[in-house]
Parts: sequence; structure tokens; C-alpha cells
Amino acid sequence: MSPHPTDPAANLRAISEDINNALKEAGRESRTVTITAVTKKQSAERILPALAAGQRVFGENRVQEAQEKWPALREPFPDIELRLIGPLQSNKAADAVRLFDVIETVDRPKIARTLAQEMEKQSRRLKLLVQVNIGEEDQKAGVAPREADAFLTLCREQYGLTIDGLMCIPPADDDPAPYFALLAKIAARNGLAELSMGMSADYRIAAQLGATSVRIGTAIFGARP
Ligand SMILES: *Cc1c(COP(=O)(O)O)cnc(C)c1O
Repeated sequence: MSPHPTDPAANLRAISEDINNALKEAGRESRTVTITAVTKKQSAERILPALAAGQRVFGENRVQEAQEKWPALREPFPDIELRLIGPLQSNKAADAVRLFDVIETVDRPKIARTLAQEMEKQSRRLKLLVQVNIGEEDQKAGVAPREADAFLTLCREQYGLTIDGLMCIPPADDDPAPYFALLAKIAARNGLAELSMGMSADYRIAAQLGATSVRIGTAIFGARP
């Protein structure tokens, strides 16, 4: 599919059909996959047609950019779910807890502890995913696959956090399938239901390998400015 930059609604319909076909192919047609529309660097003008088409789940990778854009967009659409999919610094944790509904990038003890404190303070319970550095790349955030079980236990036992699932970004130039399969395996052995994996280039295969949400920017909105 080549995205039509000015028609996010049509792109969303095509992606949704693609996912359903991929699930059918894999014999998993009873599953549903949430599309997180990734709006980083996209203007409100670009985002509005997706909202008009009924899209309600959105992803941003920077707290400050999301703070600038989303409060106004959200006002007429109180059922929007906003997901943080980029790295979170401790000094932004309070803002993140205030703004987001889901944080997909819990990746170290300090941020786990800070989020636990902030959620308590604000009486807000966010859905939390742990980011796994699935290809063990130096430049990527996330816990190493072999440290994931211990980190999940720490989040649960030390900080009293409920972790709902895992998120990953596989290495850019490799076949993503083995990485998606590994993430699914780590989630299964830890009893975690949510798997955020798959982007514009690989959401079909991610859906087939068990993604419960895919994070898609370019294929919906066109190239980022
Ligand atoms: C930007 C981004 C995406 C979306 O990437 P596309 O290739 O444009 O679909 C997904 N996940 C994360 C973490 C991102 O930062």
C-alpha cells in the first residue's frame, strides 16, 4: 500500500483491511488489533481527518510536543486514548502521567519508581508497557530480553505496578519476524496480554505474530515533515 498523504481516513481503512487479511491468513481472524495512529511531527490539521474518521488511539514520542498539540484536539473528543511511545525522562514523568493514558516505554527502575509515585500522587492509573530492546542495539532504549523477567518482577514487587504488556522496535534492517516472536514469547511466559509491535513497514507480520496493537505513522499520514 502506498499511503495517500491527504487522506488518512482512506489509509486507515486500507490498513485495517490489510490487518484483517493478515490475521485470516494466519488463521487468527478472531483476534483484534488496535491501530495506534502515530502523530509525532504531524500538525493538528493533518490529525483532524483521522479523528473525523473515528480514529481514537494516538501515539506521540515526545511529552512536550504532545502537550502542545493534544489538549486542544482532545477537548471535543474526550474518548481519545493517548499513548507515549518514546523515551520518558524522570523530570517529565509528572506531565506524562497527567496527559497520557498509556505509557509504552517503561524501561528502567528509576522511571518505574517515579511513575508509581506520580500515579499515586495524581490518583491516576495509566496502562503501562515495558519496552524491550529486542535486538539489543546500543542506540535503542528498553530492557534487554534476558533481563525482562527480572525487571517485570521488580516493577510488580518493588513498585506495586501493574504492567499490561510489552513493546519493541526491532532492528531496522533485519527480518522483524524473529524479534516479534521473541517479544511474544517473553510476554507469554510473564502472563502479559498486550503486545505493541509493528510499524508502517511491518504491521502485517506483527499482527500475524500476536500484536495487540500496531503503531503506524507514515502509512496513515504520509511522510513526516
Ligand atoms: C515513529 C514511530 C512509529 C511509527 O513509525 P512509521 O514507520 O511512521 O509507521 C512507531 N513506533 C515508534 C516508537 C515511533 O517512534
